[in-house]
Amino acid sequence: MEVRLDRAKSLIREVKDYPKTGIVFKDITPVLKDADAFSSVIEGMAENLSEAEFDYVAGIEARGFILGAALADRMGKGFIPIRKKGKLPYSTISKDYALEYGNATIEMHKDAISKGSRVILVDDLLATGGTAKAAAELISEAGGEVICIMFMVELESLRGRGQLGSNRVISLMKY
Ligand code: AMP
Repeated sequence: MEVRLDRAKSLIREVKDYPKTGIVFKDITPVLKDADAFSSVIEGMAENLSEAEFDYVAGIEARGFILGAALADRMGKGFIPIRKKGKLPYSTISKDYALEYGNATIEMHKDAISKGSRVILVDDLLATGGTAKAAAELISEAGGEVICIMFMVELESLRGRGQLGSNRVISLMKY
């Protein structure tokens, strides 16, 4: 059964020039607020994983937490947060990556992943792919195996998929 995502897609709000001039921000909060639309997104992700064998869902701060945690619960798996620098309380491992202007760092607890753990990585949106690439590298360096990288939205013109190498990449809605 194919999950119907047209309604959820129609609820995504485009905010021009946020957070800076020239960016059209895809605001998913109206989707999250709508119980049926939110559920269809999580169901769409779950459906793509029906054959996958994995141990954890890892979500990227912040909207990747919302989708990733709901997906983890739906699949009966644990959730691992990947956060911006300085937010996790215990010892961390980290990865620097380049943004359009400047750099950023993401972190994960050093004991979040045990060797051989099979992980689904989730974020709300794939743009240039830099964030997801860094997160996937962090999981691999910790000894985990990235089974699939899952997004609600993909901005195809930015070719982020190309950054993600041989990883299996799934997005539910494309622009
Ligand atoms: P990137 O590393 O370029 O793939 O950017 C992905 C991250 O930035 C994700 O966590 C997105 O939530 C956020 N992001 C980038 N571009 C947009 C956009 N146009 N609308 C909403 N979020 C975006």
